[in-house]
Amino acid sequence: GLMRVSLDVQTSTALFARIFEYLDLKPSIVDAPDATDVADGPGPMGRVEFRDVEFRYSDASDDSTATLDGVSFVAEPGAHVALVGPSGAGKSTVLSLASRLYEATGGAVLFAGSDVRQVKQHSIIDHVGIVSQETYLFHASIADNLRYAKPDATDEELIEACRAASIHHVIETFEQGYDTIVGERGYRLSGGEKQRIAIARVLLKDPPVLLLDEATSALDTVSERIVQEALDAAANGRTTITIAHRLSTVIGADVIHVVDHGHIVESGSHATLLAEGGLYADLVAEQLASSRVLADEETLAEQE
Ligand code: ATP
Repeated sequence: GLMRVSLDVQTSTALFARIFEYLDLKPSIVDAPDATDVADGPGPMGRVEFRDVEFRYSDASDDSTATLDGVSFVAEPGAHVALVGPSGAGKSTVLSLASRLYEATGGAVLFAGSDVRQVKQHSIIDHVGIVSQETYLFHASIADNLRYAKPDATDEELIEACRAASIHHVIETFEQGYDTIVGERGYRLSGGEKQRIAIARVLLKDPPVLLLDEATSALDTVSERIVQEALDAAANGRTTITIAHRLSTVIGADVIHVVDHGHIVESGSHATLLAEGGLYADLVAEQLASSRVLADEETLAEQE
């Protein structure tokens, strides 16, 4: 009913304000008077398209090269797309445009076939889930932090989402359980635990599109596997665009886009790109070499 709708809008707006507060940005994006909902788009729900996207950060000087230039790709509903590439290539910027934190300065980003500039801001936010390296938790209970994603979620729904995100068994060990206060000055969850809370939020919100910035920081092998399984659960049945660092994610992707200097320079499956022997093959070789070094160091440490 109407109550429910207005509650959702308020929650989204509050959440959006908090996201911007957190990122220290001002929402400069204003809805067009005739803005539509994602659901009204001519294309299928969950379809994300970048059409010849150019992007320049507003603080960049006019004569500098664009951060993104000529970026085109389509993520069909349910497809898993991986973005890989060197540091500073523009991968995070792609995700920022996909969540409309910024708007393209050339070309267009389309959701379900609608140019996002013609879509209501809150509608985009409602259709996108984000799991990034930094999970922001409010100074509030775990239950409240989860309910930002779904205000009317029952306790059972919270538990179900946390089970699927492999965090329920951790919360259960807390004296206050789901009432444990987290965030600034609250109980300090580890990075991996916070990420799993973020994954539980995605499961509660149930958006058609998931944007994922995989952790680069080495979680230990056990937590990495747990987070990976939780992410797989969250990605299942959703369009997922991932900044991928783990080889396992890249290999499992339907398509990999290699980003370099603001361009997509290679696209294809792991096997195709490896056979091409280009930048992707180099990146994989680099990663294999460094993981071998890590494994060697671990072996050395064990022997000491
Ligand atoms: P990494 O893997 O290191 O995170 P990335 O591929 O995600 O890198 P981006 O973070 O998208 O790359 O950055 C692309 C370029 O845009 C970089 O040159 C970066 O310095 C610049 N950039 C990123 N964010 C901003 C910003 N808010 N304002 C101005 N320039 C920015």
